[in-house]
Amino acid sequence: MQNSNGTQNGNGANVVLHVADVYKNFAGLKALSDIDLQIEQGKTHAIIGPNGAGKSTLLNVIIGRLAPTSGAVIFDGTILTGKAPHEINQLGISRVFQTPEIFADLPVLHNVMAPAFARRDGAFRVNMFTRVARENELREEAEALLQDVGLYERRDGHAGALSRGDKRRLELAMCLIQRPRLLLLDEPTAGMSRHDTNTTIELLKKIKLSGMTKVIIEHDMHVVFSLADTISVLAQGQIIATGLPKEIRDDPRVQQAYLGGTYP
Ligand code: ADP
Ligand code: MG
Repeated sequence: MQNSNGTQNGNGANVVLHVADVYKNFAGLKALSDIDLQIEQGKTHAIIGPNGAGKSTLLNVIIGRLAPTSGAVIFDGTILTGKAPHEINQLGISRVFQTPEIFADLPVLHNVMAPAFARRDGAFRVNMFTRVARENELREEAEALLQDVGLYERRDGHAGALSRGDKRRLELAMCLIQRPRLLLLDEPTAGMSRHDTNTTIELLKKIKLSGMTKVIIEHDMHVVFSLADTISVLAQGQIIATGLPKEIRDDPRVQQAYLGGTYP
């Protein structure tokens, strides 16, 4: 029996996100079929698959940008399906987009501070008198995050002037300041140099120590095998395997469908 109330799965692990029997059709195209995924608390769960497999569609269903044709997504016992993206975000789910969404005309530092205003605890709405103190606190938090993502030196420049890779790291800092319970990353290292990719892997490892649950959609095998606790393989809209990195690497179906027998 599949668990569907976001508490425990068969292994006794805490399931924070359950994608339950999700289908998504686009005008006859079966983009997602019979997707059942359980994401465990505190784990990094990677979803890999070739271009067009349905990875971004799955993420968009989770965050409420797309309604599934059937099925549901359950986060910590709450059914997300039918909720608006901002409501889902308020519940503690943040996403780093494949194409960064930033405030191009604002300084880098303000980009990081802005999303904290929407933080779940509503910190900025509670009391006018604590506002200035909180703003200073927030600025320090934003600066620390910019240090972590390697953008501190650029904090006063316009975000629009950053390189593509730097914009992605800025967006990551914008997500982290919201202190999400679940962080979804859609190809977080796309467009980055190998050096920047490795810096980002180190940063994501650091986040892992803080116990945040992460779903990472990734094409780059180096990133996947460096970070994932669990890997699910998506091919033609279906999950063809879920397991530990080693199991996935050794699975002949996976090698045929995706890895082409070439990795590593
Ligand atoms: P991936 O992220 O794994 O590359 P996508 O989820 O973007 O794959 O796409 C899965 C399939 O669904 C592809 O065949 C794509 O062309 C199709 N698709 C994605 N979004 C739409 C849409 N909004 N309308 C129609 N077809 C779409
Ligand atoms: Mg995609």
